[in-house]
Amino acid sequence: MQTTSENAPQTALRFDNRFTRELPADPTPGNFRRQVTGACYSRVEPTPVAAPRLLAYSREVAELLDLHPRVWEDHAFTEVLAGNRVLSGMDPHATCYGGHQFGNWAGQLGDGRAINLGDVVNERGDRWTLQLKGAGPTPYSRTADGLAVLRSSVREFLCSEAMHHLGVPTTRALSLVGTGEQVLRDMFYDGHPKPEPGAVVCRVAQSFTRFGHFEIFAARGDTALLRRFAEYTLRTDFPHLGEPSRDTFIAWFEEVCRTTARMIVHWTRVGFVHGVMNTDNMSILGQTIDYGPYGWLEDYDPDWTPNTTDAAGRRYRFANQPGIAQWNLVQLANAIYPLIEQAEPLQAAVTGYAETYLQEWRDMMAGRLGFDSYRSDGDEALIDELLEILQLTETDMTIFFRRLGEWHVRPAEAATLDDNALLDPLMPAYYTPESLSEDTRSRTVKWLHGYAQRCAQDGLAPADRREKMHTVNPRYVLRNYLAQLAIDEAENGNDDGISELLEVLRHPYDDQPGKEAYAAKRPDWARHRPGCSMLSCSS
Ligand code: AMP
Ligand code: MG
Repeated sequence: MQTTSENAPQTALRFDNRFTRELPADPTPGNFRRQVTGACYSRVEPTPVAAPRLLAYSREVAELLDLHPRVWEDHAFTEVLAGNRVLSGMDPHATCYGGHQFGNWAGQLGDGRAINLGDVVNERGDRWTLQLKGAGPTPYSRTADGLAVLRSSVREFLCSEAMHHLGVPTTRALSLVGTGEQVLRDMFYDGHPKPEPGAVVCRVAQSFTRFGHFEIFAARGDTALLRRFAEYTLRTDFPHLGEPSRDTFIAWFEEVCRTTARMIVHWTRVGFVHGVMNTDNMSILGQTIDYGPYGWLEDYDPDWTPNTTDAAGRRYRFANQPGIAQWNLVQLANAIYPLIEQAEPLQAAVTGYAETYLQEWRDMMAGRLGFDSYRSDGDEALIDELLEILQLTETDMTIFFRRLGEWHVRPAEAATLDDNALLDPLMPAYYTPESLSEDTRSRTVKWLHGYAQRCAQDGLAPADRREKMHTVNPRYVLRNYLAQLAIDEAENGNDDGISELLEVLRHPYDDQPGKEAYAAKRPDWARHRPGCSMLSCSS
């Protein structure tokens, strides 16, 4: 490990490590697995790797950190992003948290393969934590190796940035670095582990604090540390709420309920399924965090989960996400109860979550359909019927809504057109258009007549409605098979596909001439291919 300034990259990163300065550290030195009590983190160095190679980076995240574009040409900076070099000013550490996994309390988890390098403060005064994922074991690694494979790192890198460009709150990814080392993984959990290329992602967020950070101190009955950590969180991440007090703790929890509701509404809009919504994977900032066996809805199936580990119970299926987020908020409420000692305000906030979710979901759906605003006198039935129709036959959700933005028929005109003409613009959304049943066709046509009438009520010009819809219904999302194609290429030594895909995903709402292939429905070969239709937690 090099911590010298000799040949150090010229990054001008300014570190101000408030987390490690203000919170108690694990007094035990050494990088071995253990239970850590009475502390929020353990200092730990990343493990150097054999041959780091920069595979991709995000220029937008680099800008957040005031990084000069030339750093990408400096191998010494790649070494920093691989964990081979620690810059002066950094204070590498792994944090302690617990969590409920699949509904059960799991005890101490912690950053088992994540190492925070430190907090950067940029010229605008914004604070960003840099975190390496996959840079070796920490005291929280339990029985695992602290490493990450290339395929899951490509997925995390691309999805963080894709989500950001879609307008979904998320942690970010600065870089993807191949380690030049192999990592052993049993991808199918069938007793046949295989060496795979390793990688490290440098994640960036205002904070990586999770619900589980509060849960661990509460579970251990360490109210003093719970209070200290909550006060730190309020002062650092929620300064607008004022000095910590019982009232500000309540206002804080209410805000977490609201931001979490908003995040889930966004997931619903873009068709994102997280796959592992355990409380340790819930950000206190209401941001999408920990991209593991996530997936994107292709055909609209509310029961779909990408996570093979969840295939039996489907706890984390698409339609369950709003309810699970609320369940997770209840766990957070239980954890912070000792700071408030009143159940009512916490219960009211959890109820407020459901209200915020419903209201924002309605606004979001009205926006997707191009309406001025949600109308309580009829929009509910129209939306419900649409969501049922989408399930009658395999219908690509993203393509359907995008095409609907192009569908302009006035009510009087609709009455003169035959069913084929009405349905024609939507046909590209169907996976097997030739097998559309009569029932599906007639229900869809009937719905379209109602939709035409509803659009006419707003009186928006077709071009305006189209433009409005195209700002909330993306043309390009990180389809599961697109990520897999980029991974296949990268595993064969060609990493260009990652940056090419990222380039398209930078403008998900724009029609990009020449890039139509990235908006195509899932091809047949991807229907049952691991990585495309289903994923294990093995990453
Ligand atoms: P997840 O649900 O995948 O976000 O991870 C749950 C817990 O397992 C967290 O504490 C992770 O840090 C830890 N973990 C997952 N994979 C590894 C790994 N390869 N090595 C060490 N810890 C891991
Ligand atoms: Mg996690």
